[in-house]
Amino acid sequence: MNASTPDRYTSLLDAVRVACDHVQNPAQYLGGEFNIIRKEPRGLRGRIALCYPDTYEVGTSHNGLQVLYAIVNQREDLAAERCFTPWHDMADRMRVDGLPLFTLENHLPVSGFDVLGITLQTELTISNVLETLDLAGIPLYGHERTDAHPIVIAGGHGAHSPEVVAEFIDVFLPGDGEETLPDLVAFIGDQRAAGVPREEILHAIARNHEFAYVSSMYTPEFDDDNGPFRGLTPRFDDVPARIKGASVFDFSSVAMVEEPVVPHARSVHDNISLEIMRGCTRGCRFCQAGMITRPMRYRTVEQLVETAEKAIAATGYDSITLTSLSSGDYPWIEELLAEMHTRFSPRNISVMLPSLRVTGELANLPGMVKNVRKSGLTFAPEVATDRLRAIINKDIKNADVLKSAEAAYLEGWTKIKLYYMIGIPGEMEEDLRAIVEFADELSKLRQKVTNKGRAQVNVTVSTFVPKAFVPFQWDGMMDRHTMREKQRWMRDLNRNKAVKLKFHDPDQSYLEGILSRGDRRLAPGIVEAHRRGARFDAWREKFHLQRWLDALESVGIDPDAYALRERDKDEALPWDHLDIGPSRDYLWEERERARKLIKTDYCVGKVCHVCGVPPSLCFAIKRDMGLLKTEKRRILEIDDDTGATVGLAGVDTAAAKTLSVPSPGPVRAPRRQPSSEPAE
Ligand code: SF4
Repeated sequence: MNASTPDRYTSLLDAVRVACDHVQNPAQYLGGEFNIIRKEPRGLRGRIALCYPDTYEVGTSHNGLQVLYAIVNQREDLAAERCFTPWHDMADRMRVDGLPLFTLENHLPVSGFDVLGITLQTELTISNVLETLDLAGIPLYGHERTDAHPIVIAGGHGAHSPEVVAEFIDVFLPGDGEETLPDLVAFIGDQRAAGVPREEILHAIARNHEFAYVSSMYTPEFDDDNGPFRGLTPRFDDVPARIKGASVFDFSSVAMVEEPVVPHARSVHDNISLEIMRGCTRGCRFCQAGMITRPMRYRTVEQLVETAEKAIAATGYDSITLTSLSSGDYPWIEELLAEMHTRFSPRNISVMLPSLRVTGELANLPGMVKNVRKSGLTFAPEVATDRLRAIINKDIKNADVLKSAEAAYLEGWTKIKLYYMIGIPGEMEEDLRAIVEFADELSKLRQKVTNKGRAQVNVTVSTFVPKAFVPFQWDGMMDRHTMREKQRWMRDLNRNKAVKLKFHDPDQSYLEGILSRGDRRLAPGIVEAHRRGARFDAWREKFHLQRWLDALESVGIDPDAYALRERDKDEALPWDHLDIGPSRDYLWEERERARKLIKTDYCVGKVCHVCGVPPSLCFAIKRDMGLLKTEKRRILEIDDDTGATVGLAGVDTAAAKTLSVPSPGPVRAPRRQPSSEPAE
């Protein structure tokens, strides 16, 4: 940026308006939406610019952003304003005009805030993080920033593999941000107001905030050149070697968004979004979200219905999306849908369930949600054969999908959306064939049960990318040539015109694979890719892999060493210093079980696999929610009052021999239920 530094409290709105005369979709840069919160910036204790590093269209309705915006602004002494990565035309104009990145509430320069908070979701937004910093006039490398620059914080799922962006981000907040972020903003605001130098502020955060990872306080070690990562060493004795991920255990105590911002430019989700629960203990072995958000936390039906009523009154929306990783696992799903139906159907307000998990019992759900728009029903089986189901540990059977689809067709649905994944370790040709054949069967089923036409079945096929904190984190990913071959083969196999196969771009998946397990050595390559024009990599039309490959080569990086290489069991991983979700031992054992085609059951009732999340906390939540019930097969006995593990129950002798049951500290193997069912 060649902008002269503007005053931190001076609105840039006039200059923004001038720039908007030259760009498409100018409304996205003007702010002023319904329900925004504008505070007088002077005299506040701390101010944060919350950034979703993609366009307004993608980021504005992001639930995490809306939640943090509401929670920070609930405090009178703090303010949160929003910003997004400007599209190419606007970015070019801003560079020409010397207009720095601004927020949408008061059109203030982002560089004048105490904190820039970035939501890190996918690897493909990393170049946008650099673009955002550059447009804000903030040096890309943390070590080049001065006391005048904001502290750059990152949260979201990308914060669980932080090393790849550790040179650009000052502080990571892995886990839930609701309870940690407001206090951290206040702390930073206080320190800056007192004139404490930047390096000291960062050191104090590392020392005092147990959920904050301050990357500059640690020195990484590597083998030569493209050799393995060897670990991190704290630079100071008072900085912890391991950093905890924050987890909101009392979920009902955290406020929900009752007055969401209503976008007045195009947005990918333009409705009310209600997070009905957080976490997933199904244990799918490829799924990072499911592993890092353990244990399960639930909203009550009353809280959800009340919030929905308030949000409808505050926005005028006529549709509600119930979000979670697996909505069918919400313990009171039928009650919730029945209540929503009774309340909202007469007002023509629809309810959507995008992440419904199919089970035999849920086959009657479509009939219950008569107020759901019948445009499409979505299922994510991921695989279509029993062998791969055992490998990934996701047990959505074809028969259950067929049963649910049949019920849906009879209720008037005409379209089904399916999500599958290819490139999973252990995959064979029969697994790919099964996806195409099952989509065909599902499409023809409508003809059979309704005597009408075939259903439109849209199949999105992604490519497996190994991520941090999953059992497959040690595995290599499929190379691009194989990806293309498999995709072509499946396309050729499909003869049903009502079945549409859509594949993720192999080049984008490969870049994801390079970055998802990256470390600090990639930083110069990322800077070089940005310098060569990389941004909006998640947008297929803007993405050029060659630009990245040239940039990485220019700094001596071998991308295959990151994406394709299988890691050794004992190799240090660039997220080992984060204490969140299941333990490394548990994940390795899960990987071994995948290779032996052994499934791990869902943790229901008192069944616990001792994953590394403290069982005492996990069961305390279940107890408080009234969800503890005696199961036939158990490994641990849980005290119903305290939620602590107190002993063995219902375990056969062989398993009992190897089980130690500390309470409530860390627990080790075995993590499995006995193979035979013990008598109660
Ligand atoms: S602590 Fe036990 S019950 Fe809770 S998520 Fe982990 S394995 Fe499942």
